[in-house]
Amino acid sequence: MIARLRAQPRTARLLDALDGVAGAHLVGGAVRDVLLGGEAVDLDVVVEGDAAAAAHTAAQRLGGTVSEHERFGTATVEAGDLAFDVARARRERYPAPGSLPEVEPAPLEEDLRRRDFTVNALAVALGPPDPGTLRAAPRGVEDLDARRLRVLHDASFRDDPTRLLRLVRYATRLRFAPEARTEELARAAVSAGALGTVSGGRIGDEVRLLLREPEPNTALRLASELGLDRALHPSFAPDPEAAERARSLLPPDAREDLVILAAGCRGFDREALTRWLDELEFPAADRDRVVSAALGAAALGRRLAAANRPSEIAAVVSGLAPEAVALAAAVVPDAVASARRWLEELRHVSLEIDGGDVLAAGVPEGPDVGRALATALARKLDGEARGRDAELSAALAAIGRQ
Ligand code: ATP
Repeated sequence: MIARLRAQPRTARLLDALDGVAGAHLVGGAVRDVLLGGEAVDLDVVVEGDAAAAAHTAAQRLGGTVSEHERFGTATVEAGDLAFDVARARRERYPAPGSLPEVEPAPLEEDLRRRDFTVNALAVALGPPDPGTLRAAPRGVEDLDARRLRVLHDASFRDDPTRLLRLVRYATRLRFAPEARTEELARAAVSAGALGTVSGGRIGDEVRLLLREPEPNTALRLASELGLDRALHPSFAPDPEAAERARSLLPPDAREDLVILAAGCRGFDREALTRWLDELEFPAADRDRVVSAALGAAALGRRLAAANRPSEIAAVVSGLAPEAVALAAAVVPDAVASARRWLEELRHVSLEIDGGDVLAAGVPEGPDVGRALATALARKLDGEARGRDAELSAALAAIGRQ
């Protein structure tokens, strides 16, 4: 294990930072990914002992900083591009299903047993007494070899139903299969309405992570198989095919996560969708983009399909985000050509002249200026006004000035 950690620049620095710190362990996903032969991305350290002292030692050696989060008894160390969390080994108790756990210090074995899946319940010692030693919850290593996701106890999904979404995320990303009993427990938790016990914000956090996975549509398919889609909201119906078509049209500066979500939200009414996204604590701007893309898709698609000239296409999509245009084309096949033309070419077209040029030509301030510019842009889009002079002539002609 030490050789593997030395082989990656970030974990090598972590080893040096915690060299000689008794009880310090790298835990969770980083250990899993290193054992799978991959890169350790998200570094989490657990200390059987004084976590704050370990964090300060590490920060000092790295020339970095420590921020302590008193409420959780954890600390974050940051040094250049290296950042990691340090926590005291602890046990957790759930006072009620879905609530945040009460925590208290405990040996590492118990800290591992409170985790979501056995393949995440792995730790490797960084400091004395035995650096490099792998410690795992029962069946952790065996499940990793078999590429299997298994909860650590039968009440796991009931205690923390966000683990249902984590199950889907890991199954997709790691290509691990849920073990039979775990799948049974997941289905039972979904049918028992477990998600209803968790705050919308915590569910929203997991949904956002899921949507940003490399293969979100595969994850949503699995979520639907488990009945998680309806459990999130009765009107939520992921549509991976439409989402994939929309995604293939999206320009690089647009948001794939939002268009994928919107594809599954077409059956909501406006009020319910807005309320749901607020409950999940989506930022208002993202919420509005999803609502507009989802609920406007069919009508926009029909209008795009009927638009021929570039200026007509521009008028149809005026003020709409690329996600709305891509989703419209994904649900109305005849709209694809216009949508593609807008997304790839027309939306980047702008005038060389601006309002100042129109005023300088003697037009008084007022709505005419905007109208003149809008018409000039339409002419330019249609290839009828090339260059500054032609744009200005088109603008002035639009308001009867030439
Ligand atoms: P990745 O970053 O690859 O998604 P990770 O394992 O780093 O995976 P985090 O969300 O950073 O994921 O969590 C760190 C570790 O904390 C996990 O490996 C897991 O052991 C534990 N953990 C996180 N969330 C939960 C949870 N809801 N219930 C139990 N354990 C959890």
